[in-house]
Amino acid sequence: MAPRREPIVITRVEQIRDSHWLIANCKTCCHSARLDCEALLDRFGPWLAIDDVRSRLRCASCGSREVEMHTVSPGAGGIKNPAVATRG
Ligand SMILES: [Zn+2]
Repeated sequence: MAPRREPIVITRVEQIRDSHWLIANCKTCCHSARLDCEALLDRFGPWLAIDDVRSRLRCASCGSREVEMHTVSPGAGGIKNPAVATRG
């Protein structure tokens, strides 16, 4: 069995902030929130990696660190968030 070699891809928040949203989901209480990429970059700097964000997450609702994070593309359809009206 040859070992599989996975490419190491580090994606930075800066690279996706214009095209994607970062969504955090708490596995404990199901609280879900969109992360503010601009605020994250302000706080941690332009080299902040998405994996770094994931490891720092804590639920704002229940305080759990069992938080999953994923990216979504707002332009891909299906996602409507009237609270965020800064695009277009
Ligand atoms: Zn929670």
